Amino acid sequence: MSSSQQHGPVFVPGAPRQVAVVGAGMVGLSCAWFLQEAGVQVTVYERDSIGAGASWGNAGWLTPALTAPLPEPAVLRYGLRAVLDPRSPVYLPLRADRTLLRFLTGFAAHSTARRWRRGMAAYVPLNERALEAFDVLAAGGVPAATQRAEPFLACFRRERDARVLLAELAHIRDTGQEVGFQPVTGQRARALEPALSDRVGAAVQISGQRYLHPPEYVRSLASAVRQRGAEVAEDVGVADLQDTGGGVTVTTTTGERERHDAVVVATGAELGRLAGRFGVRQPVQAGRGYSFSVPVQQMPRGPLYFPAQRVACTPLGDRLRVAGMMEFRRPGDPLDPRRIAAIVDAVRPFLSGADLDDRRDEWVGSRPCTADGLPLLGPTASPRVHVAGGHGMWGIALGPLTGQLVAQTVLKGEAPPELAPFDPLR
Ligand SMILES: Cc1cc2nc3c(=O)[nH]c(=O)nc-3n(C[C@H](O)[C@H](O)[C@H](O)COP(=O)(O)OP(=O)(O)OC[C@H]3O[C@@H](n4cnc5c(N)ncnc54)[C@H](O)[C@@H]3O)c2cc1C
Repeated sequence: MSSSQQHGPVFVPGAPRQVAVVGAGMVGLSCAWFLQEAGVQVTVYERDSIGAGASWGNAGWLTPALTAPLPEPAVLRYGLRAVLDPRSPVYLPLRADRTLLRFLTGFAAHSTARRWRRGMAAYVPLNERALEAFDVLAAGGVPAATQRAEPFLACFRRERDARVLLAELAHIRDTGQEVGFQPVTGQRARALEPALSDRVGAAVQISGQRYLHPPEYVRSLASAVRQRGAEVAEDVGVADLQDTGGGVTVTTTTGERERHDAVVVATGAELGRLAGRFGVRQPVQAGRGYSFSVPVQQMPRGPLYFPAQRVACTPLGDRLRVAGMMEFRRPGDPLDPRRIAAIVDAVRPFLSGADLDDRRDEWVGSRPCTADGLPLLGPTASPRVHVAGGHGMWGIALGPLTGQLVAQTVLKGEAPPELAPFDPLR
């Protein structure tokens, strides 16, 4: 069996036996779980609580069909037009800090068709295996389920508005990824999903995708990791990491020190803080998104996507989660109610029977975005300090596979070939 077909990492003589993971989001917890598959003793340090970062309020889509690098020519054209308007779905404050400026310069440089194709080609091998990694977790006892997204509908006001998405899906298919999609009329879309209003004049139905309930899933993964013997220490922030030659010393924000054989940094939008001193120069910028939940008369059977409005809706229990917005600001800045209002205004015409004024769980969280749109996965300048993050819009879909591949890297001391484009030192 080749390394890419193995389901879990295999114990390698001389491999680290005791590994710290910093960050208890989807990515960190997945790394922890797959390290445990090889009998590694894991300690997870989380400065807040489990899933306190982006892994909580996201849309929960497991959609390899859409998992592509964020910088592309259309985003740039759109961005220049609209980023300074707080009602726009992509917002940039006037005051930019150094990380943001470096990020934006790099982002603009990568927003070409050629670079997008190169980035997409790097994603294809991951996208092909992303859903299978959830099945490995399920078979290994993680109880939270993933749901088939049947149907998954991307909805538009007019037929011609669907052209951009159809072209993008065709480009993704051209890079060799299998993607099943077909345009449908507005009437057909409403027949499939009566929660859509008659303002939806056209849609694209994408097949073979899934979704999950993010808070439930992350909680369930954390419980599984704990049950398998890991310590998941909440309210314990990591202030510093030091490679001491034979291991890594983790210093917590309260000054305690603990030695581990290796460390995986999975701190989401704040990856740069701990990884920077180990040669990771790529800026990781918070692309903040917002979400809330509302009651609906008829729950959609699957996720609803409004690409022109950049809004994602996902059935979560008895409420519909509505998510959107890309706001390039600092992760810790407070929630801005104008963004919630912008999402409500954008989606209101397209939903029927949703009470968008009865909102609960209003939330803001930070997508960890890189300038080239590719995650940072693998060892740093220290062979004992690894990073796993920077997935931007797709850290839920790619979290488990990331855990699988990064665990393999930690155990073997070298990254598998499919991680080469994601080298954190690029
Ligand atoms: C509105 C919105 C919708 C989205 N929809 C989707 C979607 O449908 N599908 C998808 O795949 N992705 C989606 N995403 C993106 C996805 O949420 C992220 O890519 C993913 O959650 C990142 O996971 P992570 O574990 O890397 O980071 P996080 O979940 O942010 O976890 C990082 C953790 O590290 C902790 N931490 C940080 N610094 C320290 C420190 N020094 N010491 C200890 N702990 C620390 C934080 O408290 C946090 O818990 C969406 C994001 C947003 C905002």
